[in-house]
Amino acid sequence: MPETRTYGRRRRQLPTTSSTEQAGFEVGKREAVSGRVVSTGSGGQTQMAGWDAMEKTASASGSDMYLKVDDKPLVIKIVGDGPFDVYNSHWIDEIEDGSKSVRCWGTPDCPLCQIGDKAKRFSACFDVISMEDPATPVLKVWEAGIKIARQLKDIATDGKRGPLNRADLYFTIKKEQKKKSVEYTLERVKERDLYEEYDVEPLTEEALDAFVAEAHQWGDVVKEKLDEEAMAEVVDLVMED
Ligand SMILES: [Zn+2]
Repeated sequence: MPETRTYGRRRRQLPTTSSTEQAGFEVGKREAVSGRVVSTGSGGQTQMAGWDAMEKTASASGSDMYLKVDDKPLVIKIVGDGPFDVYNSHWIDEIEDGSKSVRCWGTPDCPLCQIGDKAKRFSACFDVISMEDPATPVLKVWEAGIKIARQLKDIATDGKRGPLNRADLYFTIKKEQKKKSVEYTLERVKERDLYEEYDVEPLTEEALDAFVAEAHQWGDVVKEKLDEEAMAEVVDLVMED
């Protein structure tokens, strides 16, 4: 899609309330990432800023693509009217190098299913705009489990509460660590209550359009299936045990 290509240019100008604030943020970030030397004030110089740059650079890499939910309600806006990808994963403890979670092929010929391993983890992937830093909204992939995905489906298919990407509809999501499990809580927030309840200014129409242009389409995949060779290696690992 051509819009997706030109979007990288537009992203830098994404405003929520003020485009100058946004520009200032970007400039500041770039300087920090370059790890410039900061004077200690005692005549010497230090490269302590490099550590800060290291963390910022690391968090800007691929692992940061996913929405991170914690115990404080996080304001998000869902971009599409449904998940763009849905799958189950096998959890392979024997994998020491790399992700232990392996996408099930979802077909009768999935090698892990064939050796009797059950794909126990369900994921539904949604594009969401994280308003964690309200001045700098970011597009993230939210990997929701079955419980939350069902709640979202109920809202999506309800003529009065849905669709998920209704212009005036935002959500908050938080998680709570229980004794044996993690519990997620989803709440709908109307745009008109956003500022009062969460100190978050709604997105401008322009910003929202830009995110929509960058969003995934149904059938896009962020967690790739392993190919036959890699899958055979995983099966070997499990069988060796
Ligand atoms: Zn499988």
